[in-house]
Amino acid sequence: MAAARVVVVGGGIVGATTAWQLARRGVEVVLVESEEPGRATSAGAGIVQPWRPAAGGPWARYSDLAGATWPGLAADLAADSGRDPSHATVGGLTVSHDLAALQGMAEELEAARAARSWTGLGRVEVLAPGRAAESFPVLDPSFAAVWSEGTGRVDGRVFRDAAVAAAERAGARRWSGRAELVAAAGRVRGVRVDEEQLDADVVVVAAGAWTTALCAPLGLALGLGPMRGQIVHLQVPDGGTAHWPTVMTLDEEHGHHYLLAFPGGRVVVGATREPDAGFDDRVTAAGQRQVLDAALTLAPGLAGATVLETRVGFRPVTPDGHPLLGAVPGWDGLVLATGLGANGLTYGPLTGVLAAGLALGEAAPFDLTPFTPTR
Ligand SMILES: Cc1cc2nc3c(=O)[nH]c(=O)nc-3n(C[C@H](O)[C@H](O)[C@H](O)COP(=O)(O)OP(=O)(O)OC[C@H]3O[C@@H](n4cnc5c(N)ncnc54)[C@H](O)[C@@H]3O)c2cc1C
Repeated sequence: MAAARVVVVGGGIVGATTAWQLARRGVEVVLVESEEPGRATSAGAGIVQPWRPAAGGPWARYSDLAGATWPGLAADLAADSGRDPSHATVGGLTVSHDLAALQGMAEELEAARAARSWTGLGRVEVLAPGRAAESFPVLDPSFAAVWSEGTGRVDGRVFRDAAVAAAERAGARRWSGRAELVAAAGRVRGVRVDEEQLDADVVVVAAGAWTTALCAPLGLALGLGPMRGQIVHLQVPDGGTAHWPTVMTLDEEHGHHYLLAFPGGRVVVGATREPDAGFDDRVTAAGQRQVLDAALTLAPGLAGATVLETRVGFRPVTPDGHPLLGAVPGWDGLVLATGLGANGLTYGPLTGVLAAGLALGEAAPFDLTPFTPTR
């Protein structure tokens, strides 16, 4: 399917990158965005850690490719948008009191690096108790850690907005409103937004957690749904927070909690994982407590920080944890690109590149069959 006109539905990190990639290749693109409450890209913390030692099958290729692609993509985006897309390689700490487990993690990373020719991971080192807090001064100093030099962070809003700006510079049009698919006889012909119909050779649906509802009128029963995340932003005196590494933990108790920092003293502490909250975008007392409890356990030095805001977002999650990425069997002119769950800021830009290629009928760089949207 050689696409001359493409409509991209959803202007999160995936859709915005898709639109930018298509526009810079000379394709006529319209990016439709409805600004739903709880857009994941607006809430995402921003840890960029693509390297997954345990990943097998398509995830292995996906994560390896993401690691290799990030620096070049960020540089292209800076050039095309004229903005700083906010990606910085700050390094990452994985903290624990279990030195043996940390040693095991470091060995696993080194083994995977050797087997899978990873670029960008950088130096991996086990830090004795006390040393982790040297680079993240509010941390509990009794933690030991694995340091991985190549871990990055990005402000999802800034990256997304830069991608939209770059797309517009390359000729893409933005369209505000909620799109519905226009389809007949096994072919998607475009979208309707309010009273307007936008015709397209291909529609790329990158509507995050809202993708299931959008595709339901086609008779598609996608298993994808929202997983709510509540995440707190704190203010500390700016003692070089621009250079603080990301902090994750191996410890079971706070396994999905983490910390990272941005310039100007902004520290982000996340996040709840609430698969049963539906599209309820409230900040809850229990969510707030859970996040702050974990943050202060990991970093007691944050006790006096100012609470700036709590963001709520819906991660687009699938039952098997694989994204929905590819053409949709039975429907010509339709490509889905979503389902990146808790890692969509890490994998979203690469997914946008792949989705743009799929919209143009190009072969993917690896077998995407396990990601088939209707699997
Ligand atoms: C609290 C939290 C912390 C996270 N932390 C990290 C992290 O540290 N690292 C990481 O890699 N990932 C992280 N993530 C995950 C990441 O944020 C998401 O996976 C990613 O942002 C998903 O991007 P997306 O473009 O698929 O979806 P979204 O950003 O949700 O974008 C979908 C867009 O589609 C639009 N839309 C929906 N329906 C329609 C329609 N009918 N018409 C037009 N537009 C429509 C919405 O308004 C929205 O803007 C986190 C997520 C959360 C919630």
